[in-house]
Amino acid sequence: MQRFALWLCDPDTADAQINQQGLQPPVLASEIEVDWLWSFLQRVDARQTLLHRAQIVAALPPPQKAVLVTWIQAVSTLSAQFRPEPIQWPVECPIPSHTDWKAFKELMEAFYKVGFRNGLPFLPDGTPTTVGGVTYARYVSEFREAHRQSTNLEAREVCVLCGGPLGQTPEVDHWIAKSAFPLLSICAENLLPICGDCNSLANKGQKPVHSDGSFTDWFHPYLNPGNEAMQITYELHPRSSVRCDAATLVDQRKVANIDGLLNLSLRWTREFKAEYSKQKDVLLNRARRRFEAAKPGYSQNEILLFVEEWEADLLPSEPHYEVRKVLAAALKEQARLAAWQIELSLVR
Ligand SMILES: [Zn+2]
Repeated sequence: MQRFALWLCDPDTADAQINQQGLQPPVLASEIEVDWLWSFLQRVDARQTLLHRAQIVAALPPPQKAVLVTWIQAVSTLSAQFRPEPIQWPVECPIPSHTDWKAFKELMEAFYKVGFRNGLPFLPDGTPTTVGGVTYARYVSEFREAHRQSTNLEAREVCVLCGGPLGQTPEVDHWIAKSAFPLLSICAENLLPICGDCNSLANKGQKPVHSDGSFTDWFHPYLNPGNEAMQITYELHPRSSVRCDAATLVDQRKVANIDGLLNLSLRWTREFKAEYSKQKDVLLNRARRRFEAAKPGYSQNEILLFVEEWEADLLPSEPHYEVRKVLAAALKEQARLAAWQIELSLVR
């Protein structure tokens, strides 16, 4: 894809040269890729072929092609952004004309929307192939397999970003939005199956994951993962809530950015409160049954035992395990046990 994009931007590539003959090696690496790309370019989307869009890019004036080449080269060094002294990541759109940019963007995005859906001409190790190339479905299924927390195939799966339920149909997120960086539409380091909540407009959606082109204060799911750097804490005052904190000072800004991007504190607080309310309802029901059976009410020690048993049964492979561990700690506090005991003693 990069190779093709760079070839389109070569000052010597004219729009009339984009044909099966013109794409032969060494323009593309293999005949398999030539055949695949040529048939791909015949696809019609919004009443225009992808070939037509490629012709628009090839017909750009040489100075604009030169700017686009610099942009393609910079975007292609994504992993270097997470190593010391990275080159400047481009934040400006490289093509001034809206129509020309749209042609380039739609052509690059089609590699994901059309190519990835139907199968790319490569095996996962990059070997060209006519059959059994990488597809969207295979990518998602292999990712889920690799991140499965439980050996039980029917167990709920966990979203790698929020720790919540992944759901039956996870959404593939482009970590760096493909609308602004369409060159990364099928880049393995930029694709991540996550839950619908994480990928919603209210949360990550299309938002940037860098600060004006700097990735210094940002985690990246593969290149600079933050799992170890984050911890969940809870506070009772001013109101009971859960916070996403950094384990060490050095990661504070990264954690604040990821929290802001995904609204983790808010979502984890909601989960904390929902589970709190559920456990309290379970105890209230039991207290009611005890009252109806004329048995003595709950002692603080019995409530503690109930919480300890619930905690001991929590499974690390289940969604929201961390939030529930924090909840267990909160429920075992003396003041909470005393308050619950009073509430349970009033059940009739
Ligand atoms: Zn999620």
